[in-house]
Amino acid sequence: MPDIACVNGCFGPLSDAVVSIEDRGFQFGDGVYEVLRTYRGQAFAVDPHLARLERSALALQLSVGHTSAQWISLIQEGLRLSRYPETKIYLQITRGQAPRDHPFPASLAPTTVMTFREFHPLDASVRHSGVEAISIDDIRWGRCDIKSVNLLANVLARQRAKEAGVFEAILVREGAVTEGSVSNVFIVRNGVLHTAPEGHRILSGVTRAIVLEIARKEGVPVIEAFVPRDELLAASEVFLTGTTVEVLPVVRVDGHAIESGSPGPVSRLMSRSFEVLTG
Ligand code: PMP
Repeated sequence: MPDIACVNGCFGPLSDAVVSIEDRGFQFGDGVYEVLRTYRGQAFAVDPHLARLERSALALQLSVGHTSAQWISLIQEGLRLSRYPETKIYLQITRGQAPRDHPFPASLAPTTVMTFREFHPLDASVRHSGVEAISIDDIRWGRCDIKSVNLLANVLARQRAKEAGVFEAILVREGAVTEGSVSNVFIVRNGVLHTAPEGHRILSGVTRAIVLEIARKEGVPVIEAFVPRDELLAASEVFLTGTTVEVLPVVRVDGHAIESGSPGPVSRLMSRSFEVLTG
């Protein structure tokens, strides 16, 4: 089966899937999304992803399109049809189709789109040796907790990382680390795990929450507070979390080695415990 898509509940080959040019997702980036992946063919952490989709939609006065039970059965059906060893599942809801005008009509049927593609995990060697990052200004809007399809600042940030030959761009607002362009950021200093607090400045990552839970179980102290960029560079460990990156050590930031320049014990512990949970 080729990559498949599901538009408003109808499945077909991804290459045949179309949405109107008057869709507000296309015109305004007026929509929200989620990315899930499978482990051993099973969609992982479906409930927290659907809960966040609902929160994002609610924050934008957007209808979620399907009930949770319907989303779950569409996910199952997509996985049944695509039959990849592992799948990356993309869900998107946009406000729907209307003549272009900034205010939105009171009742508009949302457009829902899903895609199912083969998921290729990061190379084990990359995961083992860690990645590099750059730090750049966080120029995003004031509601980064909403997983909006408006990703221009993230797109530009990840492009900067790519052009710099590194994996991720770590975003810094008013001198403090918020998150990555596609991930949450964790820092270890003096044996304490630090990560930016939930709120309007970061996306509340599903993987972030799992890692915080693991840290509590493992007795690793956690502080949810913004870390200044200088402390990022002086950290003993840095790692990223996200659905596709899982737990990924960062060993250089802006060309400076983090401690010894190889993944530290807390990153390795979190990565191993996450693997146990998903494996
Ligand atoms: N922050 C941003 C900006 C992201 O795009 C992502 C990836 N969705 C994350 C954090 C990590 O979130 P999750 O663990 O839910 O994938």
